[in-house]
Amino acid sequence: MLINTESVEITCSQDHPGDEDWLAKARVPEDLTPIMPYVNAVVKRTDYYTDVPAIIWMHGDRRVAVRPHEIAVSHVGDTEEAAVEVRKVVDWLNDLWERRDAVTPMAEPKSLPPLMSVLRLLPMNNCGECALPTCTAFAVNLIEGDRRIEDCPALTSEEGRERARALEDMGLT
Ligand code: SF4
Repeated sequence: MLINTESVEITCSQDHPGDEDWLAKARVPEDLTPIMPYVNAVVKRTDYYTDVPAIIWMHGDRRVAVRPHEIAVSHVGDTEEAAVEVRKVVDWLNDLWERRDAVTPMAEPKSLPPLMSVLRLLPMNNCGECALPTCTAFAVNLIEGDRRIEDCPALTSEEGRERARALEDMGLT
């Protein structure tokens, strides 16, 4: 096990006063640097900064950042939810660490297309035809690699082709 769940200390804070969302931060005594290339290998889209070091990716609609002794999870509603979401990430990291022999680590930095740039290219009519409730949810899933451009009918139509091409230019598929 990489992270001893008993030793994780969680704090919760608002990025800006008045925000509804809170940011959960977990301090861990273990150095998480060695797992970063494995996360980079198994998560399709990450922001991986080898010099910091830090790795960031979208986990559902939450942004997760891992630094040598810290795990941060965005968009948690309260301290209870913070504990649940941090625990999910810790369990996922521990599971990945256990099966690391079957994964080829990837040390090369990658970067995520910015969410706003993706949103600008979507119809933003929340029609639901992609089986997601909103275009924002689709954008997050597209960035994570859980949805494909072709899952949005508006992007495969004649009028949507140019926007689909712009998304492809960002490295999305
Ligand atoms: S199908 Fe396209 S337009 Fe409709 S909600 Fe999904 S992303 Fe938005």
